[in-house]
Amino acid sequence: MCAKKTIIIDYFSQMQKIIISFIAFIISASLFAQNIDYAKTVINKLSSEEFKGRGFVENGDKIAANFIKSQLDSIGIKSLNTNFFQKFELPINTIQGEVNLSLEKTKINLGTDYLISPNAASSSGKYKVKTIKLSKISKYAKKDFSEKFLYINNDINTKESKKLYRELIYTNSFNARGFINPVDKPTHRQSMVVDSFTVLNIRKDLILNIPKYINIDFKNTFYENYQTQNVLGYIQGEVDSFIVFTAHYDHLGKQGNTATFYGANDNASGCSMLLNLADYLTKKEKPHYSIAFMFFSAEEAGLVGSAYYVNNSIFDLQKIKFLFNLDMVGTGEKGIRIVNSTIFTEEYDLLVKINDKENYLKQILKRGEAANSDHHPFYAKGVPAYFIFTTGGSSEYHNVYDKPEKLSLFAFENLLLLLSDFIDEYR
Ligand SMILES: [Zn+2]
Repeated sequence: MCAKKTIIIDYFSQMQKIIISFIAFIISASLFAQNIDYAKTVINKLSSEEFKGRGFVENGDKIAANFIKSQLDSIGIKSLNTNFFQKFELPINTIQGEVNLSLEKTKINLGTDYLISPNAASSSGKYKVKTIKLSKISKYAKKDFSEKFLYINNDINTKESKKLYRELIYTNSFNARGFINPVDKPTHRQSMVVDSFTVLNIRKDLILNIPKYINIDFKNTFYENYQTQNVLGYIQGEVDSFIVFTAHYDHLGKQGNTATFYGANDNASGCSMLLNLADYLTKKEKPHYSIAFMFFSAEEAGLVGSAYYVNNSIFDLQKIKFLFNLDMVGTGEKGIRIVNSTIFTEEYDLLVKINDKENYLKQILKRGEAANSDHHPFYAKGVPAYFIFTTGGSSEYHNVYDKPEKLSLFAFENLLLLLSDFIDEYR
């Protein structure tokens, strides 16, 4: 018997296997080592001061769109239409230039101390502040507050009173000049309308004593038809139907000269994921399905870019086999959560199967439908679509602190690998 020889041969073939898999490991690791650097570069770039918060002031959206287009070009991604851009218009209100607010004689800082409601019209002057109690609200029904800022003291503090409070300051049924609204951390949003009153969202600890008067000075600029653009690319697959990846690249822009909303997590992280995935996939063999990459604008104004896309799709929406929207994927200490996963269970099961095998993410949490990001206009038109976001880590949201250094990118590589494996296995 040649037992010994067999063992030697086995030993060599084992060694060969080990060497081959080691080389494969080195190649894939270096492929990815390069990618995580690229992921950070993209997030840092999109979240830098140069990009003006990727909103509708100082051409932030256009700077970002051009950057994404140039990245797609250099990765070797083809344009879905001509020149990658799909232009559309929307109305938008902005507050640009010098902004000043003093509580009595103390000047406070825009962005960190306070933010002005995004729907505000220009305001300039000294205004008295009147405190009124929510419990006594009916008493003030006929008073003239048109030249006053109101501070409504919610002395009832129930769920219902909180709702009433919000209604009062957002609908301004008192016809006040404005409101002082105490908040833990000033947050922002986009507005497509202008109102004649102003809500000042001021950090609570700065107004422990409500000021007797304020001095305020800022100007709004309202664009009736601001032109912005989606950015659309794809990789040709074996068949003419698509797996689509979407991410909004716009954020909240700037308020005044000094408050920049960097939007590192929301959603430079998702854009980086799409660009990294595009880069990764072009280095692999041709995929079965064609893969589209859609970077939407004006998500923050109310899913405007994706809604425009579904009504002006480059190809028949029925060709979308499945869609993944990635919005806020810069953390992942606790894994990911998937909107619509309780509806499209087959795809959820496949993701979990891959994850169980490869141990990519801590957990893949379920969630039902929610109209909270760009997957929704597609889903509403019958396209099977998920919205994935990471959980755990930084919770900075719609404020001036959503910066690259807050992001751990804990699940970034592994989420990319999970999506890539899904593309390979999904039929
Ligand atoms: Zn957002």
